[in-house]
Amino acid sequence: MHSLERIGRYRLERRLGAGGFGVVWLAHDDVLDAAVAVKVLTENWVDRLDIRERFLSEARLLRKADSSRVVQVYDIGELPDGRPYFVMEYADGGTLADRVEAGPPPVAEALRLTALAARAAADLHAAGIVHRDIKPSNLLLRTAPGGADRVLLADLGLAKSLAQASGLTVAAGSAGYTPPEQARPGSGIDARADVYSLGALGHHLVTGSVPGPPGRTERADRLRTDIGPDVGRALLRAMEPDRERRWPSAEAFAGELERLADEVAAGRAPAPRSGRRTALLVLAGIAAACAAAVALTAVLLTDESAASTLTVEDGTGRIAVEVPAAWGGQVRDSGWNPRSLGLQDGTEPGLVVADRLARWPDLRSGVDGAFVGLSEHGDVTGAVRAITHPGCHYAGSHSYSGARWHGLIRTWDGCPGEDGRLTEAALTSTGSGARPQVYVQVRQESGDDDTADGVIASVRLKA
Ligand code: ATP
Ligand code: MG
Repeated sequence: MHSLERIGRYRLERRLGAGGFGVVWLAHDDVLDAAVAVKVLTENWVDRLDIRERFLSEARLLRKADSSRVVQVYDIGELPDGRPYFVMEYADGGTLADRVEAGPPPVAEALRLTALAARAAADLHAAGIVHRDIKPSNLLLRTAPGGADRVLLADLGLAKSLAQASGLTVAAGSAGYTPPEQARPGSGIDARADVYSLGALGHHLVTGSVPGPPGRTERADRLRTDIGPDVGRALLRAMEPDRERRWPSAEAFAGELERLADEVAAGRAPAPRSGRRTALLVLAGIAAACAAAVALTAVLLTDESAASTLTVEDGTGRIAVEVPAAWGGQVRDSGWNPRSLGLQDGTEPGLVVADRLARWPDLRSGVDGAFVGLSEHGDVTGAVRAITHPGCHYAGSHSYSGARWHGLIRTWDGCPGEDGRLTEAALTSTGSGARPQVYVQVRQESGDDDTADGVIASVRLKA
């Protein structure tokens, strides 16, 4: 891309980010003396007239919504080289994606933010528009002096759905947010597709983890023990694979979220089942646990030598790993996207098991657990070698060779969370060619190498 200083009358200040179709700049409108955001279509789409047209029709539709909850579009134009752009309201508070990355907000706030997103979607629906790509990076925050943050819905998913329908690969990043009907071309999309994505947003904000594929999502109150079953049920109803069973509208879902947020804030939330986590931990180690543990997820928890370790499988049954029993409080078994390591976009088998899953996404919080993800493509070793963890001290790497695997292990210590230690491995199966590879991350609040090595050595794959 050529380096730009101005677009039309807008003076570019810095790049705010880039997505699958465009680059977004912070710019200054010298005429109105106001900060604006300018989104320019990426060069590689310029020759696709249909994508160009959709890009611009997105801007026109956003205007049509004419709602203070939907990002305002001020201007549309074209660069001399043909790239179209549109100029919109600048959101100075970042996106909800930045917000979740910093760790899940308190429950009442997570529910309120989701309710605001649902109200914004309802305004679009009232104008006859379905968004189709509601996700954290498309929800922008605008700070109000002395007041509460405003949530603005941005970026319709029009161009994306066109590209998907024509079989083009788009860096989607929307895994976990897409309702089943949207993945089936020709099945007809209505406002309830957005209700599904709003449910995914609520689940992500409340638990800190992206929900699994449709129908395979654990209830939020099973991932985070300090919330009541009402919250879990409301979010899961939004994510029903069958849209007839979802909340009938974004508005109805917003109303329920607001009610729940008020309840939580007033401390009137139905108490989470007391002692649940302890009960699971104790039960999980013994054979009688199987029935109780199945209620947790579809994961298999079996007793191992003297009840000191647990074997956990992912939802597809391909991966199994053994962890100390005390780590086995919570499991997410619904896969991962290797794109998070810079590898090919997609969903592959993967699982996280940890004592407190809600803490997993935040490297600054102490947690004991393990992540195992399989990758059929790309160079996992190279990707693992490139990872850095700001805030942790890099303690070195060594090569690993075991009965099932060989590969690279890297260790970080002094991570926040007291004496936190992080061990990462890129593993290639011994004997059976280069594929698939496995990425393992072990997190320990205070740990020794032997435990991490034991977890890594225990990883097994089924064909
Ligand atoms: P996708 O292409 O899947 O929509 P995305 O939402 O991350 O991915 P863009 O919509 O191109 O990509 O936006 C890129 C980034 O620019 C956003 O993540 C956000 O951080 C920033 N951004 C977009 N619009 C605005 C805006 N109006 N004000 C402030 N920042 C914005
Ligand atoms: Mg976007």
